[in-house]
Amino acid sequence: MIIFGWRDRASTKERGNFYCPQCEAQNPFKRQEIRSWFTLYFIPVIPLHTKGEYVECNRCRGTFHVKVLSLNPEKQNEEFAAEYQHAMVAVMTAMLLADGNVDDSEIDRACEIYERVSGNQASRQDMLDYVNRTQQSGEDILPKVQQFATTLNEHGKEMIVKAAYMIAAADGTIDPSEQRFLGQLGGALGLSKAHFRGILSEVAATPLAG
Ligand SMILES: [Zn+2]
Repeated sequence: MIIFGWRDRASTKERGNFYCPQCEAQNPFKRQEIRSWFTLYFIPVIPLHTKGEYVECNRCRGTFHVKVLSLNPEKQNEEFAAEYQHAMVAVMTAMLLADGNVDDSEIDRACEIYERVSGNQASRQDMLDYVNRTQQSGEDILPKVQQFATTLNEHGKEMIVKAAYMIAAADGTIDPSEQRFLGQLGGALGLSKAHFRGILSEVAATPLAG
């Protein structure tokens, strides 16, 4: 008696490294192809059609759609970090300009805060140039902040509020225009009034904490 049938087999088509969404790290993977085989006495002898492909993480054994190989979360994170730093500088600049005059101590504080948040150096001149450009363009930062807020987590929003507060407080007083801008910033970031007040009282108690 001849025993025949069909069976699915996975074969490895590609190996490499990828960012595993489950491990949240770079790990080796294999790209597996599933193909039906015609079997004779339970032995696959003739390959038939392919039934699909998947990517398997060698570490956690999780399986993913092949699309996972074209994702580049590290690059996306870098882009996000750059955008975050840009938003931070823009908000600080808006705050520097809120009371109408840019104080030396405010520029110094802006550089200091920027360095702490971004890990990059900001020269006094760079910061001044940015402030001057913003002043000349007359661009309103709040709609941009509102747009950017959707990509920020609570910590990110808090950091931006704290940075703005530290700028405002750098010359020793927070005047009404600065206070108004702070309030508008909290609104643009979508923070509740209670949360916003909480952040302000925290930063007021420890002005240099970050
Ligand atoms: Zn994994």
